[in-house]
Order: sequence, then C-alpha cells, then structure tokens
Amino acid sequence: MRIDLHTHSDVSDGTTSPAQVVADAAQAGLDVVALTDHDTTAGWDEAERAAADVGIGLIRGIEVSCTYLGRSVHLLVYLPDPTYPPLVEALQRVLDGRDQRTPRILAALREAGIDLDEADVARESRSAAAVGRPHIADALVRRGVVADRDEAFDRYLSAGRPGYIQRYAVPLEEMLAIVAGAGGVAVLAHPWGRYGGSVLDADALAALAGQGLAGLEVDHQDHDPRRRASLRRIAGDLGLVVTGSSDYHGTGKSGHDLGCNTTDPAELERLLALAAESARRAGRRTPEVWIPRIPR
Ligand code: AMP
Ligand code: ZN
Ligand code: FE
Ligand code: FE
Repeated sequence: MRIDLHTHSDVSDGTTSPAQVVADAAQAGLDVVALTDHDTTAGWDEAERAAADVGIGLIRGIEVSCTYLGRSVHLLVYLPDPTYPPLVEALQRVLDGRDQRTPRILAALREAGIDLDEADVARESRSAAAVGRPHIADALVRRGVVADRDEAFDRYLSAGRPGYIQRYAVPLEEMLAIVAGAGGVAVLAHPWGRYGGSVLDADALAALAGQGLAGLEVDHQDHDPRRRASLRRIAGDLGLVVTGSSDYHGTGKSGHDLGCNTTDPAELERLLALAAESARRAGRRTPEVWIPRIPR
C-alpha cells in the first residue's frame, strides 16, 4: 500500500493536468494520491474522474498559503467541504492576492532591466487558477533569461531578489478554524523546510496542535534525516498524524518524483478518521473517499 499525500497539477504550478497526475501516480505504483494544488480546489473533479478510471484512491486536498508570526507557512487541508463559504472566501482572497502580485513582479523585473509582460506569464500559466512565481520563472526560461525555475528563483524571484513582492496569505490560526468549520483536517506541509522553518519550533507546534492541527508532513525532501527524526518525535509526543509525500510538481521541481516519500497506511487511517469526525462535528457532508482496503 503506497500513499502520497501532496502533489500539484497545472491547476497551480505543476506541469501536468490533474488527470495526468493521477494516471502517473497509478503508473508509479501508488494506491492513494492526494491532489493538493496551491489555494484552489479547481482540479478536484477531473482528478476524481481519473482516479475512478485508473482505480486508485484520491484524497481531495489544498495547499493553502498561510502566515504565522510573519513567516510564510503552507497548510495541507484535506477533505474540507469546498462549498463552505468562509473557505471559499479565504481562498478567493489568496487567489486575488496572487493576481494582484503578478503585475507588480513584472514592474519590479522591468526595473531590473527585464522586459516581460502579462501575456508571457499567461502563456505559461494557461488555465491555472493559482498563478504563481513558478509561471513567471517559466516565462523567464522561455525568454532565455535563465536556464530553469531554480535559477529564476535564485536570481530574481526569491525573497531579497529584485523581482520579489509579497502577497496576501491567510493567518494560520484563522485557517485552522476555517478547516474545522469546513469539516476537514489540516497537516503542516514541510514544517522545517524552506518555508516556516524558524518559527515552527516544538512550542509552536504544540500550540498549533491545541488549535486543531491534525498532523505534520515529516517525510518531505526539504527535511534531512535528523529533522525527520526530531519532527517524528514531536509528532509522537503531541499525538499528531505523521505524513510523507513527494510534493510532486511534474517537471517543475526536480527531486520530487511521485512516491519518493510515502505515508504509512495506519497514519492515513487516523487522518481519515479525524476527517470523518471533523465533518460530523461541523455538520458538513463527509466526502466519499474510496481507498483500496488498508491491509492489517
Ligand atoms: P508562490 O506561491 O507563487 O509565491 O511561489 C512559491 C512556490 O514556488 C512554492 O510553493 C514552490 O512550489 C515553488 N518554488 C519555490 N522555490 C522554487 C524553486 N527554487 N524552484 C522551483 N519551484 C520553486
Ligand atoms: Zn508549488
Ligand atoms: Fe509547499
Ligand atoms: Fe507543494
């Protein structure tokens, strides 16, 4: 039983369609995959149909852009009611912030002598609901300014670089409350990775567990073995679910192949039980989740 709980499609900054992500997940030998595009549920229906076609389990998720103590933190939200108005409204705020940021990044790049326009970005983002820096990076690659996304971030788009512009993200505590209201469950994505790292210490994680956080994404490529061991211990102490995932972005991010990290079936079972309880408490409809039977 192989389970990967964090992937991206071209509905955000992955490079393949939701259906293709699911088909590739089956091809990679996964039994369960979660589609967790940034700040949108737009890929869910297509992924659902593909999962039924190829016969693997799909977990509907979102990777929500949050802030905590002034830092950017990513929250994986699984199985919320996507029609819950406060959730819809919060995601719209983030998507609006993304759309407002793009022209400002382009202006900053122009300032730095790089002439890129909105049409260049639109060519890369196509029908994506969540337009992000990776699409601007792709436009820079197409223009021959940089060789790949990594170089685009390193030279232009990361914090402190000439094209960096902040955008709106949801305060983490507010998002945890929204997830509870939407009948979903929340797992901190790569808590000690590139984002969040310094503010999410053991005390902060304990406080967040008290505010409804359900789990920690321990096994992620951004975490070395020592960090994984420490995070696993903290999760155990706090009774948090431990997940592992690829954070697959198609060809947009190397070293994140589908299934490169996986989640223990017993941990998925705990997560699904928490989701069912959350939905019941919120009075929301629990989405049907078809999972190949978890062997005991
Ligand atoms: P945004 O959410 O638009 O601000 O862009 C941040 C996203 O870009 C992250 O969630 C990653 O998926 C992606 N990203 C960040 N750094 C890199 C990098 N060096 N190469 C490729 N993708 C990156
Ligand atoms: Zn991404
Ligand atoms: Fe992330
Ligand atoms: Fe991600």
